[in-house]
Amino acid sequence: MNRLAVIGQPIGHSLSPRMHGAALAALGMDREWSYEAIELGPADLAGGVARLVADGYVGANVTIPHKAAALALADRPTTAASAIGAANTLSFDRDGISADNTDAPGLLAALPEGVAGKRALVLGAGGAARAAVWALAREGAEVSIRNRSRERGAALAAELDAEALDPAAAVPLERFDLLVNATSVGLATPDAPARPPGSDLKALGIGVDGLSDRLVVVDLVYGAAPTELAAAARRAGATVVDGLEVLVRQGAESFRIWTGAEPPLEVMRAAVRSESP
Ligand code: NAP
Repeated sequence: MNRLAVIGQPIGHSLSPRMHGAALAALGMDREWSYEAIELGPADLAGGVARLVADGYVGANVTIPHKAAALALADRPTTAASAIGAANTLSFDRDGISADNTDAPGLLAALPEGVAGKRALVLGAGGAARAAVWALAREGAEVSIRNRSRERGAALAAELDAEALDPAAAVPLERFDLLVNATSVGLATPDAPARPPGSDLKALGIGVDGLSDRLVVVDLVYGAAPTELAAAARRAGATVVDGLEVLVRQGAESFRIWTGAEPPLEVMRAAVRSESP
């Protein structure tokens, strides 16, 4: 059996086992391949990965809070993972651990068109934002960053050759072709109280008047319901790419790395959206 897993903490709500399980089944590979979720806390990452290697696993997706630490465990990080400073896809073989970052190509693959020469604004400066800024800049977009914590945003902008916007000012949306929300604003958690309407947009510095049909809006945050940003952008006629589509695209890239097979995108989409394929 070729075993795959997603490791993180918490991991119970991960959609990856359902998505990869459906893909393996659709291709008739589920007799030889499996994909499971494994809860692993920060103190146990190195030991947990060593157990996967010893048990003959083929690879693993890595999620919160391990993406940076997973890179450090790798013998062979890709250029992308090293530049982004995080890995979400590990592959194990007799030569050691390879580490890749499929969040970056996953985002690009989810976009409706190329970004060369486009003006892109990335909201946030955490791990997801790093991957987005790196990917967009590498494809030739002019990238700006706006982050709640000014210094963190400025540091990321300096490192990846982007422009930093003032987080105290409203976002000048008219300057941009593409908006990527890579903050955790909009994330619904079971224990979080409902937020008053408009509060997510306010936290992001986005005025609805600036949203229009000439914008592409990507919201990396995903959940059962559309985020406030995605809903407002859709109402304004913008082209919206939601976090589930990006999740599918990064999963598809990982699937291709491990199995060499062409990922069945429609099956994976249906699995994460809980529809029957
Ligand atoms: P992270 O490293 O913890 O970064 C969180 C970012 O959100 C920081 O820039 C933080 O700003 C900002 N932020 C948090 N609360 C905020 C608030 N109330 N107002 C304004 N900004 C706020 O998280 P991450 O790993 O980058 O992930 C970010 C989001 O992307 C998560 O929701 C994650 O689930 C999602 N994601 C989705 C995919 C996908 O495939 N769809 C892939 C990766 C990540 P400060 O610097 O000021 O704290």
